[in-house]
Amino acid sequence: MTGAELVALRQALLDWYDENRRELPWRATPGDRPDPYRVWLSEVMLQQTRVETVRPYFERWIQRFPTLTALGAASLDEVLKEWEGLGYYSRARNLHRAVREVADRYGGRVPQDPERLRALPGVGRYTAGAILSIAFGREEPVVDGNVRRVFARVFDDPAPKDSGLWFVAERIIPGERPGDLNQALMDFGATVCTSRSPTCGRCPIDLHCRARAAGTVGERPAPRRPRETPIEKHSVAVVRHEETLLLVRRPGRGRLGGLWEFPGVSRSPGESIVAGAHRAATEWAGIKVAVVRQLGSVDHAFSHVRVTYDAVLASPKTDPSRGLAADGVRWVREGELGEFALPRAQRRIAELL
Ligand code: SF4
Repeated sequence: MTGAELVALRQALLDWYDENRRELPWRATPGDRPDPYRVWLSEVMLQQTRVETVRPYFERWIQRFPTLTALGAASLDEVLKEWEGLGYYSRARNLHRAVREVADRYGGRVPQDPERLRALPGVGRYTAGAILSIAFGREEPVVDGNVRRVFARVFDDPAPKDSGLWFVAERIIPGERPGDLNQALMDFGATVCTSRSPTCGRCPIDLHCRARAAGTVGERPAPRRPRETPIEKHSVAVVRHEETLLLVRRPGRGRLGGLWEFPGVSRSPGESIVAGAHRAATEWAGIKVAVVRQLGSVDHAFSHVRVTYDAVLASPKTDPSRGLAADGVRWVREGELGEFALPRAQRRIAELL
């Protein structure tokens, strides 16, 4: 595509955006200056997550942590509790670490230097590009799933490479209103050039679209081969003692890091559900248990793995206070479970009771 064609495409997208931009709670109204914290938060929440799912989370979050400083001052437990149910919890942990770093090193101001911004935990090229362009008006590109699909169709490329997509995004971004252009591409991909039913008949850039001309829209981009998802079987010990339940906190890093859960382990081949539950109580809290009954199973799909949690109700056989010296082991009244940040599957296990 020539430079002149890119300029025309850019202008068509901006004109479309002026008429059709989505009203979103994190977006500034035209003429107002976007708040970098709100832009950053929304981009982190929107990773792997639909706009309609994010909307209520964002609104609650802003009530609770209205500024970057307020978020930095909150404990990780408070942050994870507010994130509960949104999944991919490393996003919340990284955001929390990053805003503290911004408070310590940059006086609470989000850095406008791309290198510094991208050095913050959880801020990759996409997030940095979105913050810099939308909040600061800098000519920084973004490539997300929507942009990838639009470019794949406009250039009629069945399998565009990341390097090629970023190259095109870098070529189209220079000019006025770079933040609006990036948001136009995102909105256009989400509402017009959608993956299943693009409305080509009402498309403002159809004259630029090579896939439309070639009749290959439905095959662009070509679907990626689905990965085989590994399956894990876990035993979970729901240990009850005098109206309280045993909760443990997962280590700070890794899957569901920092969240609370009932003690659980991934079973070894041949290990029974009950044997796994015994091991879970011992390994996590240092106590031996007597199994009362099996509670049932909960299935949960993470991004790269499916887990079946087989839950067992148990009672302590040894002193229940053993293990409590360790930070991250608690006996919690059943009515107080709601105060702890529990992953969705663990809430469903609690419901089995
Ligand atoms: S013509 Fe269709 S496929 Fe091409 S950009 Fe427009 S909506 Fe997307």
